[in-house]
Amino acid sequence: MTNKNNRFFSNPSFAAIEKQRQVQYVRWFIWTYWFVIGAHFLAQLFSFLFLPYDASANYFYLHVLLYPSLLMCGVTAGAHLILFKAERFSFYSIFAAGTVIAMVIIHLNMDIRIIAAVMLLPIFASTLFFRLNLTWFTALLQIIGFIALYVWDFWFRSFISDFDLIAILLFFVLSTVAASFIIVGGRDLVYDLEAAMSARQQLLVENTVMSQRSKTDALTNLYNHMSFHEFYDKAMEFADRGAPFHLALIDIDNFKSINDTFGHRVGDSVLAAVARVIKDRISPADIASRYGGEEFALLLFEQSFDEAYALVERIRAELAKTTHPELEGRAVTVSAGLKNYSNAMSKERLFEEADALLYEAKRTGKNKVASDAIAV
Ligand code: GH3
Ligand code: MG
Ligand code: MG
Repeated sequence: MTNKNNRFFSNPSFAAIEKQRQVQYVRWFIWTYWFVIGAHFLAQLFSFLFLPYDASANYFYLHVLLYPSLLMCGVTAGAHLILFKAERFSFYSIFAAGTVIAMVIIHLNMDIRIIAAVMLLPIFASTLFFRLNLTWFTALLQIIGFIALYVWDFWFRSFISDFDLIAILLFFVLSTVAASFIIVGGRDLVYDLEAAMSARQQLLVENTVMSQRSKTDALTNLYNHMSFHEFYDKAMEFADRGAPFHLALIDIDNFKSINDTFGHRVGDSVLAAVARVIKDRISPADIASRYGGEEFALLLFEQSFDEAYALVERIRAELAKTTHPELEGRAVTVSAGLKNYSNAMSKERLFEEADALLYEAKRTGKNKVASDAIAV
């Protein structure tokens, strides 16, 4: 709600869009002026040629057609120039130009009784910019323009009674009040809308962060047990449609003794280090999760079983030679069971078979990858 007079939006990105739009409005105004000048020119010419006209041709061409049109074109061209050269003044210049155009039209058409109402148009048109100070500036211009016409233009004055004079000025004031209400009302609406939109954006960001948090494991940054199962279900669906995958279960060897020897905190940091090695080795399409404790489950989408096997084997070998300063320079090893999806296999069965292979790797000496397919 700060800076109410100068800026419509407080959010910078909305404000930038609004500014673009306002420049567009200024352009529309200027083109409207050119159109009005042209239409007025033709209307005058038409009335001179086809309606009874009591001035001389010379007077008409110079004082009704040429000079006023030149004046109106001059102020419009000026407003156009200011839009290019000093954009921030263009609001004021278009309404100043509009006032001059209105004065000229009133001066030339004062025999039309309600012609002074033309000067109400800029007041309402200015509400388009939703700036109170601009609308008040425009209203002031109209009042000054009107009084100036009244003082200098004898013919105009003679068409206006004292009652008209007061009524017209009153109209200016009332229109300005009405225009101000439109602006204040529109602004409140936009502030509410903006507040609602910002709240939604905020919520969206928080939601994304939250769901990221709820999907991953805080210690290892891998997917957690729950999200593993979500991915596993999806992988199953795709596999049934002909896009097979491989399931690897990896378990750290003798982890209990690490905890017992070095403490739980060291155990935690080793767990995180193992997770990093796994994550660095898999391809972006693969899913690595901390299934529980010191056990990891991997969904591998490598083209062939051999490739998947080679990948798990690389992880095992890499871990076996990765030393940890907190373990006095020792490495930890892992055992893995790798199983590929085969047609119409159930989710549970695939998992059990991979688990059985992991058990086999443990039973036959640890630090190895067991699989029931022949690998290179
Ligand atoms: P094996 O080679 O047969 O897998 O032996 P192991 O000692 O790794 O297996 P076991 O299942 O006997 O012990 C697993 C240990 O892992 C027990 C538990 O304290 C430890 N552990 C599980 N989760 C965490 C954890 O988040 N942090 C730490 N520091 N230890 C954990
Ligand atoms: Mg273990
Ligand atoms: Mg275990």
